[in-house]
Amino acid sequence: MFDSRTRTVVIVGAQWGDEGKGKLVDVLAERADWVVRYQGGANAGHTVHIGEKSFVLHQIPSGILHPGVRCAIGNGVVLDPDTLFTEIDELVAEGVDVQGRLYVSDRAHLVMPFHKLVDSLSSASRDIGTTGRGIGPAYEDKIARRGVRVLDLRHTDRLRSLVEKAVGHANAMLASYGVAERADVDSTLELLERLAPRLLPITDDVGLMIHRGITTGANVLLEGAQGSLLDVDHGTYPFVTSSSTTSGGAAIGAGISPMAIHAALGVVKAYTTRVGNGPLPTELDEPLATEMRTLGNEFGATTGRPRRCGWFDGVVARYAARITGLTGLAVTKLDVLDTFDRVALCTGYRVGDAIHAEFPADLTALDGAAPQYEWMDGWQASTAAARTLGDLPAAARKYLDRIESLVETPITHVSVGTRRDQIIG
Ligand code: GDP
Repeated sequence: MFDSRTRTVVIVGAQWGDEGKGKLVDVLAERADWVVRYQGGANAGHTVHIGEKSFVLHQIPSGILHPGVRCAIGNGVVLDPDTLFTEIDELVAEGVDVQGRLYVSDRAHLVMPFHKLVDSLSSASRDIGTTGRGIGPAYEDKIARRGVRVLDLRHTDRLRSLVEKAVGHANAMLASYGVAERADVDSTLELLERLAPRLLPITDDVGLMIHRGITTGANVLLEGAQGSLLDVDHGTYPFVTSSSTTSGGAAIGAGISPMAIHAALGVVKAYTTRVGNGPLPTELDEPLATEMRTLGNEFGATTGRPRRCGWFDGVVARYAARITGLTGLAVTKLDVLDTFDRVALCTGYRVGDAIHAEFPADLTALDGAAPQYEWMDGWQASTAAARTLGDLPAAARKYLDRIESLVETPITHVSVGTRRDQIIG
């Protein structure tokens, strides 16, 4: 992925998240100097399997699993400091050296306990199916200009009034829900004052650090969370996350210029999944849905929720490729389809007499839309040991070729299992 002209690369999910970005970042991080998270928060969950060990990373970039790679949490992330340190402690307990390798942007906004309270008790959050980690309310406070940033922890004199303002708003929200729970200023301040001595020493101007890295020839990987169809602008609004998950958001959220990004790798599963509510045009009926969920182990890394499963949707992936300017595609979990006798690819949606080949902004256009499928023979052989395209059964290669033509993006990687080495690059 990296060469003399391609040194800043963004990795984005090109479906509804959980595409296996964590594994791709882990594989590509081997040649990176920096790995930077640019949006989302502890609602993300990247799972990386190394040998017998599994690591689920919620906020720390997956690059941390490679010694020598420096990792940063950018300004576009909403940071939950409490769970950050739980994550760091768990990594250290597993023998991962984090000291001096992890930086947090001073501009990142903080997720506080009252954000989680508001998130968990809000019926709007329930309707969307959020993870309840306080991400949406923290971004709301950021945009409403009552957020608390990491750098505010340096100013204890100012911190109380900032927290009072945000808690006041949270309590007004809770009162409007008709619930008895209330947020509390003193306990919030106690938590922040307890965490500040650990957080401030790893706090820095991350955008500037990355810029300096780029100007001195460093390889930088920008690690997206969630997926393009969950982007607050381009996704299936309102069933979206609260941040810009696409490559445009990568520059903003890492604090670097959009002109500094050289390539964008989109990660897609060989099929489609989504967690939470909202449209999923190619969603499978039973018993196929359960079969695919079981084979793909499609349960959320953060919440354990069963994921909804469907056939590969070429309309969705081509839309994601356009919005994010994908220069390459990584297809993951091809092995999950190994046992199917036939597989389908969606090429458009039929609504009445019309076929829609572009993903609509207006979700009502998807009401009653019938996915148009191209059926292909399954390969009914294990792909888990394939390390080159030539090792794949002809039917699997044909399936990948069709994905490539539908998405109009060259496939650069194919993943055939959870392990690091189970990849064709
Ligand atoms: P992310 O948020 O995009 O990183 O995705 P998740 O970590 O939530 O989900 C990816 C899951 O799929 C993890 O458990 C990975 O180990 C697993 N995975 C990734 N690539 C493959 C693959 O090629 N085959 C199989 N069977 N599992 C994979």
